[in-house]
Amino acid sequence: MTQATSRPDSISLETLLAQGGGEISEPFREIVPPIHLSTTYERAPDGAYPGGAVYIRDHNPSLKAPEQLLAALEGGAEALLYSSGMGAAAAVFQALPAGARIVAPRIMYWGLRAWLIDHAQSRALTLEFFDFAGDGQADVCGTANLARLLSQPTDLLWLETPANPTWEVTDIEAAARLAHASGALVAVDSTVATPVLTRPIDLGADLVMHSATKYLNGHGDVLAGALVCARADPLWARIRAQRGQLGPIPGPFEAWLLLRGMRTLFPRVRLATQSAAAIAAHFDGHSKLVAVLYPGLASHPGHAIAARQMRDGFGGMLSIRVAGGAQRAREAAARMKLFKQATSLGSTESLVEHRASIEGPATACPDDLLRLSVGIESVQDLVADLERSLG
Ligand code: PLP
Repeated sequence: MTQATSRPDSISLETLLAQGGGEISEPFREIVPPIHLSTTYERAPDGAYPGGAVYIRDHNPSLKAPEQLLAALEGGAEALLYSSGMGAAAAVFQALPAGARIVAPRIMYWGLRAWLIDHAQSRALTLEFFDFAGDGQADVCGTANLARLLSQPTDLLWLETPANPTWEVTDIEAAARLAHASGALVAVDSTVATPVLTRPIDLGADLVMHSATKYLNGHGDVLAGALVCARADPLWARIRAQRGQLGPIPGPFEAWLLLRGMRTLFPRVRLATQSAAAIAAHFDGHSKLVAVLYPGLASHPGHAIAARQMRDGFGGMLSIRVAGGAQRAREAAARMKLFKQATSLGSTESLVEHRASIEGPATACPDDLLRLSVGIESVQDLVADLERSLG
């Protein structure tokens, strides 16, 4: 099995991540960890399991290092990897008791929202959505709407901030205070913010969820998800038991690739964030656009809250609304050469997506909106590609 190398207690997360956790494995003392492929483990003559592993469904050594790193990154007690982000999110809702009451944002990752509506119906869960449009100048992020919904006993508040694909911002600290007063736990889909920019547990969240397919892996070649808990409470115990019973985990090779991707999380996210901010500033007020949606712009309704709860910038995701409507937006996307037309986000290469046509007729997404996932290419090249395509 693995053993920790000795390292100072004050080591920064950047250093920990760059070294992939810094574990050295015996007997060869490899700097890069091996992949453990065995599905089963031999018992000793006395029936014990000397290595602690029994069977791959709930003892997969390849998952350990990325899980420990992620727990450290988020400041949580434990982390669990899943075979997809959807699998990780679903594990939270599936562990809630029958009849539970859930409050979630009206704007969130559409795939999870659609599944959640079906799931709530099939398990008689009460599901209420809160709006971001607030009650006035002092309530730009809908905290008053949230307070109204959380004035009755609730089991779970689900948040996503910044929220796909229009990047509304939720004040996690204020929302957690309201949720805890109503008896609810708070779970945050932090896929877009990443632990580089926001640590929801520090702000009062009880659970953090990631589509690790996105920034955590960061190279567009792994499907995975993750949950991190602030403390191992009874809900977490149910979540962990169910994962062991059902086995919705990434394979050893995917877990290994994820650990490799996580080594460069800090520089990738910082570079994408700087480039997204530069692109947002360049195109803000552009004659071929009706809006640039990015929490880093002072004109964004959630800017002040984002500036308070996000560190080192506002992330690598932004959206543009193209003047002239859906047809113009789709034509502009088709003309882009460096921004590839594809769904997903958080990889080294930049992607553009006409979001309404992916989300379907029930979408609340404006049909002139193009979602941009900014990669780590030269920002001058990216600006030129957008200028050419809009022109
Ligand atoms: N949450 C967000 C914010 C996402 O963007 C996605 C995927 O696009 C998911 C969750 C689902 O993750 P996965 O595709 O890994 O199942």
